[in-house]
Amino acid sequence: MGNERIYNFSAGPSMLPLEVLEKAGAEITNYQGSGMSVMEMSHRSKVFDQIFVDTQAKFRKLFCVPEGYKILFLQGGASTQFSMVPLNLIGKTGKADYAVTGNFSSIAYKEAKKYGTIQLAASSEDKNHTYIPTQAQLKLDPGASYFHYCANNTIYGTEWQYVPDTGDVPLVCDMSSDILSRPVDVSKYGIIYAGAQKNMAPAGLTVVIIRADLAGSELPYTPLMLNYKTMIDKDSMYNTPPCWCIYILGLVLDWLEEKGGVPGMEAIKHGKAQMLYDVLDGSRLFSCPAEVGSRSDMNVTFRSVSEELDAKFVKEATAQGFTNLKGHRNVGGMRASIYNAMPVEGVEKLCDFISAFDKAN
Ligand SMILES: *Cc1c(COP(=O)(O)O)cnc(C)c1O
Repeated sequence: MGNERIYNFSAGPSMLPLEVLEKAGAEITNYQGSGMSVMEMSHRSKVFDQIFVDTQAKFRKLFCVPEGYKILFLQGGASTQFSMVPLNLIGKTGKADYAVTGNFSSIAYKEAKKYGTIQLAASSEDKNHTYIPTQAQLKLDPGASYFHYCANNTIYGTEWQYVPDTGDVPLVCDMSSDILSRPVDVSKYGIIYAGAQKNMAPAGLTVVIIRADLAGSELPYTPLMLNYKTMIDKDSMYNTPPCWCIYILGLVLDWLEEKGGVPGMEAIKHGKAQMLYDVLDGSRLFSCPAEVGSRSDMNVTFRSVSEELDAKFVKEATAQGFTNLKGHRNVGGMRASIYNAMPVEGVEKLCDFISAFDKAN
C-alpha cells in the first residue's frame, strides 16, 4: 500500500504521515469498538468528546500552550481569521499595525482596513517579498490594538527568524504554514492561528490559540460565529466542530510526539531544508529568490535559468514521482513544500534529481 505513494510537494493541502493515514484507515468504519466511524458520530457523544478533549490536551502539551490561553478548533480556514482578528481586537484603540511580507499577510492587511485605521508597519513588496524586514525596520505604533504578521510566507518561501518585539502591543500571528515545525514561546503572543491543511490535518480545521483576556471586546456588529467569545464560552462546540479533522489532528500529534515532539521536528525540518538549499546553491542552473537569512524551512522556492527549463524540470520531476513542484504564479519557477510529514528520504531523492537535472541540461 505504502510503496505506491509518491512524494507530494504540494503547498497545501499537503502530505500527512503515512502512519496516520493507515491508522485512520484501520479505524474508518468502526472507531475503537464504537460500531461507527468518527465521521458518523454526534459531536456531543462521549466517544467524540474524549477525542476532542484528548486532542486539545495533546496540542497544549506539545505546543507548550500556557495557562490563560484557550485552544480553539474552528472552521472557515485561516482566511476567516483575517476578518475575525480585527472584528474582535481592533475595538480597543481603533488602530492596528500590519507587516506585509507576502500574499496572505497582504490579504489580511486589506481585510482589516474595513474595520479601523491600519498602519503598514513594514512591507517587503519593494523586492517582491524576497526578504523579511528586521526589527529595526518595523514602524511600530504603541497605540495599536495589536500587531499582525505571517510567520512563514508559503508562496514566496520566506520565514521570520525572530519574534517581533512590540512591547505591550499584542502579537497576532498567522502560523498556517510553519506551526509545529519549531518551538514557539506562546506567552509572547496574543493570538496564533493556523489553517490545518499545511502541517496538521486535512482542510476544514483552523486552530486558534488565544490569550483569554483578549476576547470580549468585539465590535458590536461582529457576527455570532466570528466572535471568539462565542467559541471560548462553548469550548469550540457552539455548533458542530470539524470532527474528522480534529480526530486526525490527534493522530498527527501522537505521531509528532513519537518523533521527538516539536523540538524533534525542528531538527529534522532544518536538516531537510538545508539539504535542498545546499544542492540548489551548488548547482549551475538553479537559484533561490529568497534572501539568505530569510529563507523558509517549509517552502523552498527556486528557479532555473529560463521558463522553458523550469517547465521541463517540473514535467520530468512529475514523471519520476515528485509532484506539485510548480511554483505559485506570483513567483514563477518551482516550490518544494517540505512540511513535517515529508520524509527525509523524499527530500534526499529530490536533491538527487535536482543534481542529475543540473548535470544533464
Ligand atoms: C494557506 C494559507 C492561508 C490560507 O488558508 P485557508 O485555510 O485556505 O484560508 C493563510 N495563510 C497562510 C500563511 C497560508 O499558508
